Amino acid sequence: MITVKDLSKTYVTPHAVIPALNKINLKINKGDIFGIIGFSGAGKSTLIRCLNRLEEPDTGSVTVAGQEITALDKKELRLARRKIGMIFQQFNLFDAKTVFENVAFPLEVAGHSPQIINEKVQKILDLVGLTDKARAYPLQLSGGQKQRVGIARALSNDPDVLLSDEATSALDPQTTFSILELLKDINEKLGVTIVLITHELDVLKHICKNMAVIEQGEIVESGSVEKFFLNP
Ligand code: ADP
Ligand code: ADP
Repeated sequence: MITVKDLSKTYVTPHAVIPALNKINLKINKGDIFGIIGFSGAGKSTLIRCLNRLEEPDTGSVTVAGQEITALDKKELRLARRKIGMIFQQFNLFDAKTVFENVAFPLEVAGHSPQIINEKVQKILDLVGLTDKARAYPLQLSGGQKQRVGIARALSNDPDVLLSDEATSALDPQTTFSILELLKDINEKLGVTIVLITHELDVLKHICKNMAVIEQGEIVESGSVEKFFLNP
């Protein structure tokens, strides 16, 4: 589903040249829940943001669902991104929009009719357990509920892939657990391939099938989570 080849990225600031990713290679299969773990500053966020080109890599390629993301022009990229949902640590919701409107937004951008939008949003809100919150605003919601809205919005265009950028880092352990269970459910029910980055071993152990360890911009280990923890 996802192939990353020799991906490199260096940040150049007025004060420093910071190599963030150094020739990353990854293969992530359809239906996987793939975790990328590493310490702060290892390059996790840069890597996951390169998968949908929120960050532009310097060299290398990213292919998602048969499409070479790194070769697309702006318009093609906009279309391709509909099939790559993303969720964030700080949720990134529109505070002036209701829950319904937040989830409807990507569907409106994609040009769907109000009827289709209504049907889809109701269905997705049902899936994430927020049907009764459709008319609420994000500021009226708990952290866990906000992330459910984030997940619902990311799923609105039936993506092949869901990217999670530390989606549970701002949540308490119990809420983290329920969000991870929801992601598992989405992976099983909808067949969405999930890629998540985390600095927490517990998150990785709880839902990931396969994993990679990133250190100083390089993948130093990868394989099945089970195997990794059986052979210390
Ligand atoms: P992680 O997500 O694992 O914490 P990041 O991908 O955020 O790692 O960062 C990797 C390296 O790149 C770090 O040294 C970080 O300071 C640097 N970095 C990240 N974003 C930027 C940026 N926009 N400008 C300059 N340096 C950055
Ligand atoms: P219509 O567009 O056919 O007049 P409504 O606007 O009454 O229908 O919406 C029908 C259902 O869709 C509502 O019961 C509600 O669940 C949901 N809905 C539509 N728009 C919103 C919105 N802005 N905020 C919350 N829920 C909405």
